[in-house]
Amino acid sequence: RFGGGVKAPEQYPIPGVKHVVAVGSGKGGVGKSTVAANLALALLQEGARVGLLDADLYGPSQAKMFGLEGERLKVDQHRKILPLEAFGLKVLSIANIVPPGQAMIWRGPILHGTIKQFLEEVNWGELDYLVVDLPPGTGDVQLSLAQLTKVSGGVIVTTPQEVALIDAERAADMFKKVQVPVLGVLENMSHFLCPHCGKPTPIFGEGGGKRLAERLKTRFLGEIPLTLPLRESGDRGRPILVESPEGPEAEAFRRAAREL
Ligand code: ADP
Repeated sequence: RFGGGVKAPEQYPIPGVKHVVAVGSGKGGVGKSTVAANLALALLQEGARVGLLDADLYGPSQAKMFGLEGERLKVDQHRKILPLEAFGLKVLSIANIVPPGQAMIWRGPILHGTIKQFLEEVNWGELDYLVVDLPPGTGDVQLSLAQLTKVSGGVIVTTPQEVALIDAERAADMFKKVQVPVLGVLENMSHFLCPHCGKPTPIFGEGGGKRLAERLKTRFLGEIPLTLPLRESGDRGRPILVESPEGPEAEAFRRAAREL
């Protein structure tokens, strides 16, 4: 543990990885994993070399999101774990290590060791960005990640709703405490896009993400609509940037990625 904004002595770069971008949220269910997956793909489509680390140890969803459930990991000649690959993206999820359905009780030291292993014992190859899908909230994984490696920046995902915003502010505060610069706020589920008439409806209210960004003196990275294809694509194992790269959702993700 470290606090008071003191840099931890253990911090070291991940070999071959230029930037680590952490995606966090104040609470679960706001679409953090969906955003992490599609932001990673958007960066890839912009021409970068990208990896995605699913560090949401309590509710890993990236293996499912990329259709990689049940895939076995391989190791290289130095016994380093090789991430899986999907749609040109390197993906590694705890779900590919721990059998699915197994109850996971993570105690501090084990959790720290797991994150350390993710960073040290994985052959990511050469990457411009390693996008990390954090667990929701402000817990030990966030601390371990910031302690073990240099995180270039953190993206905060929130819905426009007031209750989500309060938690999101806490997540931003956590990034600050561990000296991770906040890159901006990305608002998810900004408005429901009707599949029949195309009319946007602000189900969770309007302007919350923008107001939060102003409060935090950080950038507003944009609005992702709430749509049926976005939910379906995630469940099908083909994220929206792969499934429907010309749609409004994909365009919103690409715009956000260009803002990073
Ligand atoms: P979190 O990681 O914050 O818990 P997820 O990314 O797992 O959230 O999203 C929770 C659920 O909501 C998933 O079923 C996902 O497909 C869906 N979802 C997330 N964002 C959207 C969106 N903008 N439009 C439609 N469905 C979404």
